[in-house]
Order: sequence, then C-alpha cells, then structure tokens
Amino acid sequence: MKKTLLVDLDYVICEPGLLKILNDFCGTNYKDDDFEDYIIDDVIGPQEKIQEFYEYYLTQDGYADAVIFENAKEVLEKLSEYYDIHLCSACVMYGVERRSAKLFKDKFEFLMREFPFLDPEKIIFTNTKNIFKADVQIDDRLQNLMGDVKLKLLFDAYHNRKITDDELSKNNVIRVKNWKEIEKLLLENI
Ligand SMILES: [Mg+2]
Repeated sequence: MKKTLLVDLDYVICEPGLLKILNDFCGTNYKDDDFEDYIIDDVIGPQEKIQEFYEYYLTQDGYADAVIFENAKEVLEKLSEYYDIHLCSACVMYGVERRSAKLFKDKFEFLMREFPFLDPEKIIFTNTKNIFKADVQIDDRLQNLMGDVKLKLLFDAYHNRKITDDELSKNNVIRVKNWKEIEKLLLENI
C-alpha cells in the first residue's frame, strides 16, 4: 500500500498570484523578500482593509500569474508513483467566506490544468488541515503541521524564516528548502 502524502499548494508548489494582486490593489511594487510575515497581515493591517482587499481579490484569478516552483511538478509526478498524494489547500477568504467559491474554482482549474497526474478525487479544500492522518505532510505554515502525521515538512518561505530550528524540532518538523530536497527525503523514506 502506498504511503499517504498531504501536500499544500500555495508557497509549497507555487507562488500564487497573491503578491501581484496585492500590489495592484495597493499601488505598490513589493516583492516577497520585503516581508518577514505573511504578506496580507504585514501590508494590509486592519481587518476592514483585509476584507476590502479580498473583495478585490474576488474579481481576479489568483492563479493566472501563479509561478510553479522549480522541480515541483517533476518531483510530485515521480512521488505519485510511490505516494498516495492528497493536495490540501485552504480556499476560504476572510471577510468574504461565503462568497469564496471563485477561489475554489480558480484553484481547482489551475490544479487540473498544470498537474494532470493529480487525482481530482483526492483534492481537499479546507482551512482546517490538522484533522488528517497521513504519513507525510508538506506545508509552509507551522500551524498547519499539527495533525497526526509521521513526517512533517515545513517548506521554506519568506514568512516562516523567523521560526527557529529549536521551535521546529520541538514540533517534530523538518524545514525543507526546495523540491530536490523533498525528493531525496521522501524517496529515501519509502
Ligand atoms: Mg501554503
């Protein structure tokens, strides 16, 4: 039986078009490296403004300008021979929760378009990622790596670099920097 792999999308497999949409919304020219925390919290600030931003986001396709990370596609495809891959990604946007359907659609279409080897029946759209049991999980947010998972990998991202090695080891989490590293780790662990 194949091992179960739970893998996140945004900032793990791809850089979503979030920053571009945010720059359009704010009239700015930020780059990821300008931030230490998650972009939205850092730049937009007050809750009302976040809601206003997500209202704007609803009019855009967040995946039209998504950039897939180097080797992500190839490694995932290779891993799909040995792992039962479940793509697990959040889709509901703050303040516009009940009108988030467009994000579900844009995300699903992007996944089907770019990753033909992913099983559409194994796509999980949820903001509560800690309820699953899996052999391996990859996510860029530590708070999503608290479930019943044997091997937890934090994908290195601009907003998680402040998390210390100590904090990671306390939570039994290993930081990975790229997909070649993931390939090595996961194929060794079969
Ligand atoms: Mg993510």
